Amino acid sequence: MLPPPQLRNMSTLGSNIAQRNRCWYFHSADHDCFRKGGDRCFARNSETGENENHAIIDNGSCVSLHASSIATALMAFNASVVSINGEGEKKKVTMDDFFVPPSKDIAMENNLQTKEIILPAPTKNTKSAYIKQVARESYDWSLGDLAVVFEVSGNTCRTASIVLGAAAPVPYRSMEIHPTNSSANSFALETPMG
Ligand SMILES: Cc1cc2nc3c(=O)[nH]c(=O)nc-3n(C[C@H](O)[C@H](O)[C@H](O)COP(=O)(O)OP(=O)(O)OC[C@H]3O[C@@H](n4cnc5c(N)ncnc54)[C@H](O)[C@@H]3O)c2cc1C
Repeated sequence: MLPPPQLRNMSTLGSNIAQRNRCWYFHSADHDCFRKGGDRCFARNSETGENENHAIIDNGSCVSLHASSIATALMAFNASVVSINGEGEKKKVTMDDFFVPPSKDIAMENNLQTKEIILPAPTKNTKSAYIKQVARESYDWSLGDLAVVFEVSGNTCRTASIVLGAAAPVPYRSMEIHPTNSSANSFALETPMG
């Protein structure tokens, strides 16, 4: 379900969320794709594009997938990232703002060094779940993963935060639920859970 033990022991949360996408064209020196300043997306080509394990959502100009599994869960819990930019300035951004989608910047570089990840403490009414589909039973990247965080009150779900991983170039927050308050990251539901 996860990276091999050596990586689990040695890597950091900062490097996990900053890991590069796994698009084979992006990694190939022979393919000058949009994201490397080129003029096309090789994966998107309907005749020759090998686009298994590529984005199915928000896949306008770049169809690479964001590879971090834990980013899916951290975003669902409305975590924030404290980073330092090239000028040494420290700033705190939500996970939603931390990841740069190709529609904003095709190179998708944020040039920030992660110093801390802040996870708000769940309340006693918080319910959460994370599921991940992989091709192999041993360590592997995800084919698709999903994190949900609900605030419940009795039998009623009051807010829900739902994030899809390995679906888009950055972790993808599902906006299918209608927002009913000013918080961009939580959405009220009146769905009985019983
Ligand atoms: C077989 C296999 C299976 C894997 N499966 C999964 C999986 O299921 N889920 C998953 O999430 N990952 C998976 N991984 C990826 C693995 O977890 C990452 O490689 C790891 O988290 C990153 O650690 P690293 O030591 O390789 O990082 P590095 O190579 O050291 O860093 C990765 C990138 O992050 C940058 N970086 C490092 N630290 C910071 C920082 N503090 N701030 C900003 N940028 C930084 C580096 O410059 C580099 O560009 C898998 C890897 C392998 C080999």
